[in-house]
Amino acid sequence: MKQRLALLGSTGSIGQQTLDIVRQRPDEFEVTTLTAARSWERLVEQAKEFGPDNVVIADKSLYGVVSEALRNEPVKVYAGDEALSQVVTSGEVDTVVNALVGYAGMMPSLSAVRAGKRLALANKESLVVAGEHIMREAAERNVPILPIDSEHSAIFQCLLGEVSPVRRVIITASGGPFLRTPAEELANVTVEQALAHPNWSMGAKITIDSSTLVNKGFEVIEAKWLFGLKPEQIDVLVHPQSIVHSMVEFDDGAIKAQLGAPDMHLPIQFALRFPLRGECGESRFSFADHPTLTFERVDNERFPMLQTAYECLRKGGNSCCVMNGANEVAVASFLAGRIKYIDIAHVIQQTLCRATFVASPSVEDYALSNSESRRIAQEIVKEL
Ligand code: NDP
Ligand code: MG
Repeated sequence: MKQRLALLGSTGSIGQQTLDIVRQRPDEFEVTTLTAARSWERLVEQAKEFGPDNVVIADKSLYGVVSEALRNEPVKVYAGDEALSQVVTSGEVDTVVNALVGYAGMMPSLSAVRAGKRLALANKESLVVAGEHIMREAAERNVPILPIDSEHSAIFQCLLGEVSPVRRVIITASGGPFLRTPAEELANVTVEQALAHPNWSMGAKITIDSSTLVNKGFEVIEAKWLFGLKPEQIDVLVHPQSIVHSMVEFDDGAIKAQLGAPDMHLPIQFALRFPLRGECGESRFSFADHPTLTFERVDNERFPMLQTAYECLRKGGNSCCVMNGANEVAVASFLAGRIKYIDIAHVIQQTLCRATFVASPSVEDYALSNSESRRIAQEIVKEL
């Protein structure tokens, strides 16, 4: 029996790399669902190649053009955000691969878990916003959540076979394009510079998040929920070569690490084929060719967002949801040329000061908090 995948965000960076794996292993996988926000041409092309049962175009105004382009194919076309949460519950789906970006991924993750679907999770924002709910509901139903994010895949791999408690995890960070940029120059960096990640080729939003270390902060939050850790058990170390994908330290002082070339195909394939490994792409790491792997502490002065994420995690409630909403607005505003690079941190910090704190949010509260934090962040952007 083939594993039937509902692939949310199939037109993005993780989505397309997931389809590479499906293409290489046609006897193992079939695709039931493909989705895009607005990239309808790529979605149509993918639907013609992979023959899914249904496609979703999140932007409703594009429903007509997608339906027309697929009128001769045996595929149902849906539109809108709600459709993303509905298609994942289908009886035809074994595994939901959530490769959406941003808050938009949260409800589909929850919906997948509630429907008892195995969740291969790239969309870290799901856990940043609603980690407590998603993990609890997954545990209640015994639903596996398999991390795609490379650091979390590394931690997951290091924990295999272990029964002893974890002392701490060490999440590695490349440091992004501005690792050596002096503070005074950060004010003037351009969108182009911020989009030039040294080691990974990714979607625009996560590339900016990597440069501000918001991404690393979100990964700390993601690690807390995935592995049941306390914030003080999660450390971050800059490792500019991006070869050690993360590490786990145990009580006896032993540290396990997972290494490999920076290529997302590996963690995606591991999540889909767990517990099996197998041929995966061409990238191989050679110690002899790259004998120097270095590690250093994060400069919290130049990259304050990592500590802000820890503060949100410690404060709990809806704080991480507010940080996420503010960040989405700030990054979009920076990409659109409306604010400066260093204003991203300002928008997030100010939104966190002004947003309503909710100590024990429900899923509905997250939706309200997401809207409120976006509205506040937009106001702050206008004030700048
Ligand atoms: P991309 O921006 O490349 O792709 C995002 C996908 O989601 C696209 O298919 C996009 O459609 C769709 N999408 C965007 N916004 C919405 C929306 N509001 N509603 C519905 N669909 C939407 O992102 P990435 O692939 O880079 O990242 C996906 C997730 O994986 C993120 O959470 C990221 O943090 C995480 N991740 C990514 C890594 C990477 O290497 N890229 C590494 C580790 C984690 P369209 O094409 O039409 O815009
Ligand atoms: Mg990562």
